Amino acid sequence: QVALSQIKQQLELTKQEMTELHDRLNIVSVEAITDPLTGLMNRKGFMAAIDKARSEFEDAKSPLSLLMLDIDHFKKVNDIYGHSVGDKVIKVVADTITKHTKGKDTVCRYGGEEFAVLLPGTGQEGALTVAENIRRMIEKVKLNKVGSDKNLTRITISIGIASFVSGQNVNSFIDKTDAALYQSKNSGRNQCTVSVE
Ligand code: GH3
Ligand code: MG
Ligand code: MG
Repeated sequence: QVALSQIKQQLELTKQEMTELHDRLNIVSVEAITDPLTGLMNRKGFMAAIDKARSEFEDAKSPLSLLMLDIDHFKKVNDIYGHSVGDKVIKVVADTITKHTKGKDTVCRYGGEEFAVLLPGTGQEGALTVAENIRRMIEKVKLNKVGSDKNLTRITISIGIASFVSGQNVNSFIDKTDAALYQSKNSGRNQCTVSVE
């Protein structure tokens, strides 16, 4: 006959194991939506966040805007200074964007040198202000080689801005913002464009 104390001990062990598994699951879930270079949310996480923001928009009808940001002529940075400096530039841009956004905003590394920022509760005008602040801050960043005060090249970013329209699907919201970004690129880069449609 198994003693009651033994059963209790076994139960306690099982409970501990479940807690550990649960903690590990949490870590793995966070890792799955995190970009390792910048620590920002990755595209997978962003797609979940924008879906959630869309349904909150439909419930509350509070405005929702999106910024898409892309580093200008980034290929040249890699070509001139090497890939590891390129990586550091991406990190600096990520940190600058994070510094100039608020807690409820979602900043994500959308692709290689491209970022997306979701701005809940923010209309077109507010989104343009946020975008212009980020653009101007990036333009001012001085990149120095470690142990030297010689400046590397300045970097700039181009930004597209769009606001969500009720009934729209998430992909056309992203496409609309991306089209505005490419307008910024085509108009000479280092600028912000608000989607007009
Ligand atoms: P544009 O102004 O039109 O955006 O020009 P661009 O050179 O920035 O754009 P393009 O798409 O031609 O090149 C993007 C470059 O970004 C090419 C790719 O090697 C680089 N890149 C993408 N991801 C990373 C990364 O994680 N680290 C580094 N160092 N480079 C990356
Ligand atoms: Mg680029
Ligand atoms: Mg790009």
